[in-house]
Amino acid sequence: MQGIRLEGLTKHYKRGGEIIRALDGVTLDIEPGEFIAVVGRSGSGKTTMLDLLGLLLKPTAGKLFIDDVDTAQLGDRQRAQMRARKVGFVFQEYNLLSGLNVLENVMLPLRYVKNGKDGKQHAIELIDRVGLSDRLKHRPAELSGGQAQRVAIARSMVNRPSIILLDEPTGAVDTETAQQLVDLLKRLNREEHVTLVLVTHDTDIAGQATRQIRLKDGKVLTDEKVEELVPVA
Ligand code: ADP
Ligand code: MG
Repeated sequence: MQGIRLEGLTKHYKRGGEIIRALDGVTLDIEPGEFIAVVGRSGSGKTTMLDLLGLLLKPTAGKLFIDDVDTAQLGDRQRAQMRARKVGFVFQEYNLLSGLNVLENVMLPLRYVKNGKDGKQHAIELIDRVGLSDRLKHRPAELSGGQAQRVAIARSMVNRPSIILLDEPTGAVDTETAQQLVDLLKRLNREEHVTLVLVTHDTDIAGQATRQIRLKDGKVLTDEKVEELVPVA
């Protein structure tokens, strides 16, 4: 089965003598093509959940299945390969490399997978889709925040991942730019059927997702799917 399954997924940290339950037994299924907003106060475990989903962290307990693969069974190289092939990341601070131009930044993840033959062409197409064809040779410092985040979104898609994880991607831009980025993400979600898991503080943005998961103290407080609007015949 395609998709992601979290079973009692748990991440604890020790700080001094104290155990911090950053994520505490989360069980849920993520189906291909969902657009999920993860909300909750600062410290509720949102980033920890995202980093576990992206195989950047290993859980303390519980299981994470990606497309039916039990990720605990993967060796380090297999984990890295799965991350490179299946997962795209977008962060609040864009994380673009300042010494590379837009095209080079978008092409960067191609290095971590084999047979990225049509990679350059695909990168150029993605830059076009995010509306930056006329900025291919620009450096990150020459872009606005919204443009930089569009580059980061194009980069996150270049290996054709099945899921994109976004940690407060609109946290550093103004409201109008944020909405433009969300419109772009919604379009990519619909057209490419790519799963989006987006952490946000912004209730307007969270309200546009097809599902909202609210975390509190590392646990799922609420998990609500928005009913599809069915046209009346
Ligand atoms: P959020 O993204 O919702 O703000 P986080 O997932 O970053 O929450 O953090 C959840 C909890 O885990 C917080 O109490 C945080 O301080 C703690 N935490 C996160 N990362 C670490 C770490 N590397 N070491 C110790 N505690 C951590
Ligand atoms: Mg966070």
